[in-house]
Amino acid sequence: MNFELSEEHQAFAESVRRFAQAKLAPGALERAHSAQHPWDAAQMLAEQGLLGITFSEADGGQGGSLMHAVMAIQEVALACPKSADIVQAGNFGPIRTFVEYATAEQKARFLPDLLSGKKLIALGMTEPDAGSAVTDLKTSARRDGDDYIINGSKIFSTNSPEAELFLIYVRFGPGVGGIGSVLVERGAPGFHIGEPSKFMSGEEWCQLYFEDCRIPAENLLLGEGGFKRQIAGFNIERLGNSSRSLALGRHCFNIAREHAKIRKQFGQELCEFQGIQWKFADMALNLESAQLLLYRAAMEGEHGLPSAHSTAMAKLACNQAGWHAANEALQVMGGMGYSQESIVEYCMRRIRGWMIAGGSIEMLKNRIAEGVFERSFSQRPPKAG
Ligand SMILES: Cc1cc2nc3c(=O)[nH]c(=O)nc-3n(C[C@H](O)[C@H](O)[C@H](O)COP(=O)(O)OP(=O)(O)OC[C@H]3O[C@@H](n4cnc5c(N)ncnc54)[C@H](O)[C@@H]3O)c2cc1C
Repeated sequence: MNFELSEEHQAFAESVRRFAQAKLAPGALERAHSAQHPWDAAQMLAEQGLLGITFSEADGGQGGSLMHAVMAIQEVALACPKSADIVQAGNFGPIRTFVEYATAEQKARFLPDLLSGKKLIALGMTEPDAGSAVTDLKTSARRDGDDYIINGSKIFSTNSPEAELFLIYVRFGPGVGGIGSVLVERGAPGFHIGEPSKFMSGEEWCQLYFEDCRIPAENLLLGEGGFKRQIAGFNIERLGNSSRSLALGRHCFNIAREHAKIRKQFGQELCEFQGIQWKFADMALNLESAQLLLYRAAMEGEHGLPSAHSTAMAKLACNQAGWHAANEALQVMGGMGYSQESIVEYCMRRIRGWMIAGGSIEMLKNRIAEGVFERSFSQRPPKAG
């Protein structure tokens, strides 16, 4: 077993770091406080080859590995937390499931704009009555000649205010086997996008309404029986979430460490107090152990998709370590940490959302417990009779 990154991986991380620190670190605080997608940074990241890192060259990607994508998103997040959202959207989010299962014609239609940072794809999975219990989703798709007719509603979709394309989980028939997905373009007849609402992080989301929304049959992504394959693709999305949680926690740790070296109280630097030193020791332990679990899941996904178990372990560890580090860093920085003058409070608000999005920490623990006991535990009440 080797815990060192290969020379090639180290050189790749170093080159992304140099680019991100030079081009993205300036303006990081302003981007964090803007609700808008950072389109300026998207252009730069596309030109740098940091969108579609794991996609084949034939699909317009870089032919890299999941490990490269994880390193890239972390290096970008360490320079500009908000710009890491672009790396997420261009590598880990619904675009990854799309590339895995789309037809050649669908890829030719949509990928060039998505990979050049000009357009965004959003994921519509969650519904008002189907959150953690996602298989309770009701949004339906019915074949009508050369079209599908979609009815239902989705909430909380990341990038929904600005996305041009939506990957929507739909029901073609009853049960888990009846679930699949379709691609809906902004402006499709019967597709309405509601007014933006705000998360605690400042990110905006819009409710999506499908009222006899008509889409061409060639916009089908995965038909009936597609749910398990969709969720396998979603494991990659979870690793993007994990990587950002961890990197934002690390960013806060780095900022607070520099603060603790120069801020003086009672005539000495904060880092002289043992109460402060122990906070850093705990943060370092959590961050480094979560990083190993993240790399393990990424290595597992080198030649395919990472397993649900490794992904759940990595996401839980990264969410908790990132949150702990951001919260403790804020405490170490006192009033300055709590102020919008520092990016630490933004990182803390951001990481908090990822403990809910993409599989809440409770649902991840349910998944890990199933591995521990080697059986599944139904979360549903027993059937009567
Ligand atoms: C920042 C952010 C971004 C998001 N982006 C998207 C997106 O792009 N696309 C999309 O479709 N959705 C998105 N979501 C929605 C997200 O997937 C859901 O919020 C999540 O699945 C939880 O569903 P819920 O909010 O309805 O909570 P609920 O399912 O109502 O759960 C409420 C609480 O109960 C807990 N709970 C539920 N069931 C169990 C159980 N069996 N055992 C133990 N605890 C349980 C949960 O963990 C949670 O703490 C996003 C959410 C956030 C916060």
